[in-house]
Amino acid sequence: MNCDALVIGCGVVGCAIAYELAAAGLSVIGVDAGEPASGATGASLGVLMGVCSRQPSGEVVQLRLKSLEQFDPLIARLEADLGRTLPVNRRGILRLLQEEEVAAWRETLAARQQAGYDLQWLSPAEVRSLQPGLRSDLAGAIYSPHDRQIHPKLFTQALLEAAQRRGARFFFHQPVYSFQRSPDPPFRVEVVHTPSLTLAAGYVVLAAGLGSSALAKELGLQMPLQAVKGQALRIQAAGIPWGPVVADGDLNLVPLGDGSLWVGATVEFQPPHAGPTLLALQDLLTRAIRLCPALAEARLLEHWAGQRPRPLGQRAPILGPAPGYANLLVATGHYRNGVLLAPISAAILRDLILEGKTDLDTLSAFAPRQK
Ligand SMILES: Cc1cc2nc3c(=O)[nH]c(=O)nc-3n(C[C@H](O)[C@H](O)[C@H](O)COP(=O)(O)OP(=O)(O)OC[C@H]3O[C@@H](n4cnc5c(N)ncnc54)[C@H](O)[C@@H]3O)c2cc1C
Repeated sequence: MNCDALVIGCGVVGCAIAYELAAAGLSVIGVDAGEPASGATGASLGVLMGVCSRQPSGEVVQLRLKSLEQFDPLIARLEADLGRTLPVNRRGILRLLQEEEVAAWRETLAARQQAGYDLQWLSPAEVRSLQPGLRSDLAGAIYSPHDRQIHPKLFTQALLEAAQRRGARFFFHQPVYSFQRSPDPPFRVEVVHTPSLTLAAGYVVLAAGLGSSALAKELGLQMPLQAVKGQALRIQAAGIPWGPVVADGDLNLVPLGDGSLWVGATVEFQPPHAGPTLLALQDLLTRAIRLCPALAEARLLEHWAGQRPRPLGQRAPILGPAPGYANLLVATGHYRNGVLLAPISAAILRDLILEGKTDLDTLSAFAPRQK
């Protein structure tokens, strides 16, 4: 089977790339070892922390802000393509601060405001009026009205369906396990094998999340990725009018609009296993109840664990042409912000494939490394 572009991996990043390439008129094939969004994407909370990123400036912040800017137009395009609305929380993010965090955030606040972004400092009284029910001993909070939250699985499904409507074909339960490449550098990936498909493409995009390391190795590239476990849960909490996503350190309370909330996520570097644990459940519940005491009466609906792909030896994400290859591009290692960064990753890969360049002058900071 032949196509202009083959995307390996159908998480949020691969599906966003498949959609942008199909929308640009390319013939696209997407393959995944499992179901769409069955990797990190399916475990994610979909919180899009762009404006309220902690760092005042730098390449990562620039990437996040550029991606956030693309969300509303992308959602509008998907809704127009599919004729249905997608769930988006547009009530912003409320980040609660400890006393010791205030000085650092004031610097970020000043930098964002100077760059024209709306980021507000709220007193404890203002916090309580924006989001009732939170604990009373707050030092204050940052409110970011233009940050968003989306449902990662539904968003990924929408990207996939919209790509299909533009002619993209997808094949699931097809793990890529080997490649044929041209004999001399710059190499070309000539053939890609899955158990029942033999695929040839003008361009091959490696967007396989944690699976990217093994595939890169097969191609003679080193792209070590660490699995950083995250656990989260969903609760039914009646009686509190929830508005924005509430963030307190690593803990997010994510209102889903139906009286239920996602609560998460843990950040675990050396977990004993990949599945959910009682300890994480206890930790999340304790922190959630401390943050909002009324949650002690909430019903636990479900809980889960996932694994974030974190690059080792370079910053997240890994984006751009693979060193030594003429037709291989990489979009992986998005670690804790893959949902937020999916639109900009897709736009960059589309520009690299169609025009051989991209507007983002800081892309080299994320380029796959030649080891
Ligand atoms: C608990 C948790 C909460 C999170 N919360 C947020 C959040 O609020 N906001 C945010 O922006 N990010 C969040 N993240 C991070 C985010 O989920 C990831 O960065 C993002 O999903 C990465 O997307 P991806 O498409 O690169 O990878 P994945 O979603 O892992 O997709 C990779 C796909 O590649 C496939 N694959 C692997 N190997 C092969 C192979 N050999 N052949 C074919 N296919 C293959 C897999 O089956 C998988 O479907 C969270 C993550 C976790 C775990």
